[in-house]
Amino acid sequence: MGKIISFLRRSTFVLIAGLAFSNSLFSNASFAQTVTAKSTVSLSKNSKLVQSQAGFYRMTIGDINVTALSDGTVGLQILDGLLLNAKSGEVEKLLDYNCQKSPIDASINAFLVQLNGKLILIDAGSAELVGPTANKLPDTLRSVGVQPEQITDIFLTHIHPDHSGGLMEGDKKVFPNAIVHVDKREVDYWFDKAIAEKAAEPLKTFFSQVDTKVKPYRDSGQLKTFEGATQFFPGLRSQPTYGHTPGHSLYVLESGGEKLVFCGDLVHVDAVQFDDPSVCIKFDSDPEKAAEQRKKTFADAAKNRYLLAFAHVSFPGVGHVRKEGDHYRWIPVEYMNDALKQQPQQSQGESNVQTNEKQEAISLLQSLQTTDPKPLDYINPNKYIQHNLNVATGLQGLKELFSRLPPNTKVNTVRVFQDGPFLFAHTKYDFFGPKVGFDIFRFEDGKIVEHWDNLQETPKQPNPSGHTMTDGPIKATDVEKTDANKQLVRDFVEHIFVDVDLDKFSNYFDGNKYIQHNPHRTDGAPALGDKLREAARHGRPLKFDKIHRVLGEGNFVLTVSEGQFAGKHTSFYDLWRVENGKIAEHWDTVEAIPEKRRVEKQQWKILRICVFASESPIPAAN
Ligand SMILES: [Zn+2]
Repeated sequence: MGKIISFLRRSTFVLIAGLAFSNSLFSNASFAQTVTAKSTVSLSKNSKLVQSQAGFYRMTIGDINVTALSDGTVGLQILDGLLLNAKSGEVEKLLDYNCQKSPIDASINAFLVQLNGKLILIDAGSAELVGPTANKLPDTLRSVGVQPEQITDIFLTHIHPDHSGGLMEGDKKVFPNAIVHVDKREVDYWFDKAIAEKAAEPLKTFFSQVDTKVKPYRDSGQLKTFEGATQFFPGLRSQPTYGHTPGHSLYVLESGGEKLVFCGDLVHVDAVQFDDPSVCIKFDSDPEKAAEQRKKTFADAAKNRYLLAFAHVSFPGVGHVRKEGDHYRWIPVEYMNDALKQQPQQSQGESNVQTNEKQEAISLLQSLQTTDPKPLDYINPNKYIQHNLNVATGLQGLKELFSRLPPNTKVNTVRVFQDGPFLFAHTKYDFFGPKVGFDIFRFEDGKIVEHWDNLQETPKQPNPSGHTMTDGPIKATDVEKTDANKQLVRDFVEHIFVDVDLDKFSNYFDGNKYIQHNPHRTDGAPALGDKLREAARHGRPLKFDKIHRVLGEGNFVLTVSEGQFAGKHTSFYDLWRVENGKIAEHWDTVEAIPEKRRVEKQQWKILRICVFASESPIPAAN
């Protein structure tokens, strides 16, 4: 029985045109449910691993950072007619030669390119469309310190679901701030209703998946087509290789005399198609042309000795090809891990640079979801001062928190900024219901030694102006203006919220320009002014008693204040975005501070040294 189940599990997926397609045993919907219910990586029943695999591989092409990202792997039956043009017994012979058996484990790779301040993805993963052992791309991306929201551009090699499925999770854009680039022929084909109607399965399903996965980006103007060979940025251009699909494209990355070509689905089965590039896959739109493109690409790469990167070649899928007679040989990239043991690092001028501290803070928060204990190493085990009243101080307190959190806890850090030894993160949480939080970490000698946070429950609906508590810009700019912006925000909060001196109110705004993310308020500076004046008239001003801390990176400034709200002793964490010396945007969380009498003795002791207490032993960052 075990064997049968195991066989069924492995054979449920059939690779179709480079994507695994679930057959009628399990509907896509049931996979969608299984996968989205718990995005935490867990091992598949058949896994030979005891823990999940590292899912990224970093390298450089000239000055450009490239990171291969794993979306997972998928079992692939290749002996039942999936491959075309193979000579009799050839596939079996080549599998045996490569010490492999069908089903093989096909990789699903995407690539992150950091180019000119852009965070670019080549292909977007498969989400739930190819089965439960994939759909890891968003988590893999987070594990390298990049939030999906930070991705600026996505270049699709083609629109098959294992390359574009990851654009959406349910009805939510996974990359809400990205422009998706793809060849016009690809869009013309996949959005053609007449072709879709006539298509047989499984092609018909692919067409419907385009509606759910790609169309939302087209509807919001985030899908941008190009025609054939196109230069996008210095160092990145497309090269048409129509065949596997009508608009299949390679992306060529060049810097400092080095070259890497992202090849998408020119190869599906590395054990077979390097040796015999004539072998095609059943669902190539035009197999003859696909084989021609494969041969041309191999020949040029072998001759000029540049690197190729493939979506389905064994992770990281990057390497050289060598011509041997009329065959090719795949030479995987040499493994490199030459980083030095971590040294404490100060924040650097460029705000899009992910510092070690930022990555560590993000991983630590993320570990509440993954329960991966590794990020606990970033904490000083002998000194960790916890200001969250519900968590005991010290490393042990955090470990206890881990054990208390529900298994479907979700953590998604949207923004992270650094101000000297302080890190501040803006995060969407889901444990005992959706929440938004600000977390502040203090580093000392490269370790986290202190933590503050402020949490607020998130309403289901955006605010009356259509903004959520976390959407909007995420990247700090104007890093050289950090000090000036911190001073401006400090003055603003002091005058308007501490002194409630509303005469100066309009000085801080550019006309009525003001984007409001508070769940109950609306955009526009006048709306805020009116609200404050009205509250003052009724003798219940929204009053801050004290600003405890002002932290900033470039145009983002966080103020931590204590005051009164709706008659309650309250802590206010406010994130302000400054534009041209004016307050332009605002996010906040408001949390009541427990009454002294309700706080247990031990907790009160913790509260005494918390962020609201002026006797805090912490070195103040401004
Ligand atoms: Zn594919």
